[in-house]
Parts: sequence; structure tokens; C-alpha cells
Amino acid sequence: MKFIPEKYNIKDEPMKGFIDPNEIWEHINNAKVSMERLQEVIQKSLDKNRLNLEEVAVLVNADTPEMVEMIKKAATKLKETVYGNRIVLFAPLYVGNLCHNNCKYCGFQASNLEAVRKTLTIEELENDVTSLLDNGHKRLILVYGEHKTYSPEFIADTVRAVYKVKSGNGNIRRVNINAAPLDIEGFKTVADSGIGTYQVFQETYHPDAYKKYHISGKKANYENRLIALDKAQEAGLDDVGIGALFGLYDWRYEVLALVRHTNHLEACYNIGPHTISFPRLQDASQYDISDEYKVSDEDFTKLVAILRLAVPYTGLILTARETKEIRREVLQYGCSQVDAGTKIELGAYSEDEEGEAKQDLTKEQFLINDNRSLGEVIDELIEDEYLPSFCTACYRLGRTGEHFMEFSVPGFIKRYCTPNAILTLSEYLIDYSDKEKAVKAWKVIDKNIEDLKEKKLIIEVRNRIERIKKGERDLYF
Ligand code: SAM
Ligand code: SF4
Repeated sequence: MKFIPEKYNIKDEPMKGFIDPNEIWEHINNAKVSMERLQEVIQKSLDKNRLNLEEVAVLVNADTPEMVEMIKKAATKLKETVYGNRIVLFAPLYVGNLCHNNCKYCGFQASNLEAVRKTLTIEELENDVTSLLDNGHKRLILVYGEHKTYSPEFIADTVRAVYKVKSGNGNIRRVNINAAPLDIEGFKTVADSGIGTYQVFQETYHPDAYKKYHISGKKANYENRLIALDKAQEAGLDDVGIGALFGLYDWRYEVLALVRHTNHLEACYNIGPHTISFPRLQDASQYDISDEYKVSDEDFTKLVAILRLAVPYTGLILTARETKEIRREVLQYGCSQVDAGTKIELGAYSEDEEGEAKQDLTKEQFLINDNRSLGEVIDELIEDEYLPSFCTACYRLGRTGEHFMEFSVPGFIKRYCTPNAILTLSEYLIDYSDKEKAVKAWKVIDKNIEDLKEKKLIIEVRNRIERIKKGERDLYF
């Protein structure tokens, strides 16, 4: 489903640059912040409208404790009223860390001679996928360095290999990608392998800062990266994810730029990004970045709440770069997807099955701060009365833009998302969880079933859970 956005007079052209740093800074510097104005902006978002740059500038400048509290409360309210309590779970799988580029913040940069380089063979990839399946995962994001080895054909082959793996009752039902920009033909090749979302992060939207951090290799070309996802759209791949790496430049600028990127895709292609990511810089091998723009926990939690309000219908992805405490807090502000059981050393899923392996930065892109297993993350989500979900129904039924539909189609969440979350969690509990731990989760499932209210639907969901208990799998609405 496509949608025609309110375009805020944006006259962008496809495949052309759209970031004007002066325009963004003017908005930030001229924002008129008062309690009254803040309330107006928040209300616009709670009324389910996307915010424009001037309004987002008000939010990023609102910095008294009272104002920040208002922003966070509003994000929580928006999340609760619009999205409910589902959290979608996934795992990243690093396929290869060869890289021609020199991004100064990344452990995989070409000049890092300490880095242990590896590209998984198809067999190693299958072994990792098997381990992830045996833990209960259903959704993966495959991650690659930027290197001639990782051609579109190579990426497509790895995606197909992942979909083919079966273990026990499990198979991967959605593969997303985080890799270098491709050309239009390349995006078509990868799309044909059946991917979900293709993510490319701009890292920083400030052209001069970008030059400073991206020393050599293809990625040094700011403009090329900026229009990467336009090319994906031109190739017919309309499910794309954008992101900024927080800590490279002023976080307020990056937040406005992410909204500007969203506007651009809406203005040119009538569809915004499916997801926004907001990774925060972490230590890495050969990491050499000053703390000038380091984002404090206080600002980070605030910026997540602001993003929720600014683009109320876009999925927000939160990763294990953050500690479990920060993750627990910002989940309240409307993150829709989190990774769990994350290991980013190549081949690590199948190498050390047990426990929390010590991180070795020469083998990893950066440090992660949440090493918990999938089971532990699910236990905490259940404790906090979220509904963990492995749902992949929309993608497989061709219902793209599901976050937008959840947001805008009345009853969509009750009709599809909650029942599918319940069914995928039921599968997880039956196949991968021990009985004692599952008791609380079944209670959460029961509560969510009752909250569906509609009798016919309740009966159908209960009926399908019984079918799952008897051995059927992959039932969805
Ligand atoms: N090589 C591809 C690229 O650069 O687009 C794939 C992405 S890279 C393997 C995944 C993302 O990790 C990058 O886009 C960047 O935002 C993030 N990243 C890199 N170094 C990081 C660090 N030190 N801390 C946190 N995130 C980092
Ligand atoms: Fe290579 Fe991506 Fe790391 Fe840059 S961020 S060095 S492109 S893997």
C-alpha cells in the first residue's frame, strides 16, 4: 500500500541530493521554544501527523527537565495508543567483514591490519543459521562489509541459502540486509532473492563531517550514499531502512536530517522508509573518534522519543549496542524492533553455543553492550508485559509498508499484528522455552487474547494455538 503524503512543499527530485545543512541549521537555531508551542507540536503528533522540520526543531531544542519529561511521556502515549505492546525480535548475522573503505569509526576499515578478516562459506552460514533457528529466531538481518566479493549475486546467494535452512520446526521467514549501496540492477538482483528491508545508513548527513570520517573507498562519496535508497526505489525495492550513526556530528542536526530524508522518499516515491535506525558510536578496533559529538544517555533517550513523535508511522530499530538498561527505557518510547541473542563476531553463533563469549574487537565491528540470550531478552519483555513477536506475515502476504498500515488502518493491529504476535510467541514457547519460564508468557498471551475483544477472532486465535500445540507451524493472519 502506498500513501500520498502531505508534502510540506517539498520539491525534491528523485536521485538528486536533498540535504541543505544551512536549512537544517536555520531551523535549529531559529526554533521558538515555549511550553505552549511544545504542547502544540506534541498534540500534532498525538493526532497522528508527521512533524515538519520546524516542529522537530522545537523538540530538539526543548531542554528543561519538564519539557524532556513531556516529550518522553508523549512518545510513550503515542506508542501505547497507536502500536500497543508488541516488540518484534530479530538477530544480526555478519556474513563478511572484508572492506575497501576507511570509515574511521569502524573496526572493519581497510587500514585496520589488526582485524581478522573472514567471509562465511555457505556451509558456515548454514551452521550459524541453524544455531539461530535452534534458539528460536525467525527474522535475520545479514550484514556485509563493502567489498567486490560482496556483489549483488553474492548477497542474493547468501539470502537464498539462509531461506533454505531448516532445523527442527524452524526456518528463517524474513531476511533483511545491511550492506553497501548498489546500483539499480544490483538492487533488482538482491530484491529477487526475496529480501525484506534493505538498510543503508547515511552515518552523518553533514557533508563536511562525512568527508572527515570517510577517508577513502567508494563510501567516501557522500552524494552517492545519500541517493542510494532512491536507487533501491527505482529498482522496485520499496522496503528500505535509513539511519544515522549518532556521535559523528550534532545529534540535533542528524534527527532533523533523518526526518528530511523521510520527506524526500515520501515526496519522490510516495512511500517513506520502513524503518529508522539510530546506532550510537561504540568502541572498535582502531577507533579514533573525538568525543566532541558524543551523545549522552540523557540526549540519546530523548532523541529516540523525538523520533517517535516526528515520524509516528515508521518502525524504529534498537540494537544491542545499547545496554539493557537503556534498551529497557527507550522501548517505552516506541521502538518496534530489537535484536536479541546478538553476536557480531563472524561465525560466532555456531562456534560458542553457550553463554556470553568475551568480545574480541579484532574480530568484531564494534563493542556491543547487551549480550543477553534471546530467552533472557524475551523473559524481560514478558516481565514488562510486552508481547514479543516473530511475525513476518505482512511481508509474506505482500502487505508492504506494514508500519504505516498499523498506524493508519483502523483495527489493523487488532486484526493482524496482535494475533500474529500471539501465534509466533506460542510457537516459540512450545518449541524453545522451558515450561516453567513459559508460564508467565502464556498469561501475557491470555491477556492479549482477551483484549482482542472480538469474539470470533478470539475463538479463531485460540483454535490456532491448539493447532500449533498439535504440531502445525507458521499459521498467520
Ligand atoms: N559496510 C556496510 C556499510 O557501511 O553500509 C554495512 C554496514 S556496517 C557493517 C553497519 C553499520 O554499523 C554502519 O552503517 C554503521 O552505522 C555502524 N557502525 C560502524 N562502526 C560502528 C561503531 N564503532 N559503533 C557503532 N556502530 C557502528
Ligand atoms: Fe566498511 Fe561499512 Fe565498516 Fe565502513 S562501516 S569500514 S563500509 S564495514
